[in-house]
Amino acid sequence: MNAMRHGLLVLCVLMPLIIKAAAEAADTITRGGSCMIPGMQDTAEARFDDRNWKKILTDEQFAVTRRGATERPFTGRYYAHKERGTYRCVCCGRDLFSSAAKYESGSGWPSYWQPADSAAVREISDTTHGMVRTEIRCSRCDAHLGHVFDDGPRPTGLRYCVNSASLHFVPATSGTDRPQSDPTPPSPDGRARPPLSP
Ligand SMILES: [Zn+2]
Repeated sequence: MNAMRHGLLVLCVLMPLIIKAAAEAADTITRGGSCMIPGMQDTAEARFDDRNWKKILTDEQFAVTRRGATERPFTGRYYAHKERGTYRCVCCGRDLFSSAAKYESGSGWPSYWQPADSAAVREISDTTHGMVRTEIRCSRCDAHLGHVFDDGPRPTGLRYCVNSASLHFVPATSGTDRPQSDPTPPSPDGRARPPLSP
């Protein structure tokens, strides 16, 4: 009998703590904090709160991808990067750009004339800083990538100007990361390309 009373006492003491922990867990899930790691395929799962993003991103990666900051030109790890492979979203791992579409724009930021596929990035009108620009974001996790301008080389005439901090490069292998075409960039169209920021 004493043992039963003791058990009930312990239960009464612990129950509020158990309920509080359960409520916090439920709150995390309802606020979109369900587990998402780089490489996860489900778009619905690619929603993270800031606390979780900060766990997997550096301060610079967080500022750029989740706050829309811009890295200083000629400082990013990929602006002069020439290896063959795929540039993925640093947040969710989605394929964003291929080295086959990378070219030297002179801007100081990694530049591509097309995304990895037509659904890789989404475009948003951006009127901040007194300019009218088109922001580009990862279509899966909404990470800020940079901007797209219409002063790129053929065949698209577009320049996807991207922060290195938004990207994670995966070298080409004999498997799935092999670029689909030769990485030779197309010849520029001759128009001036001002070093607009991403
Ligand atoms: Zn992403």
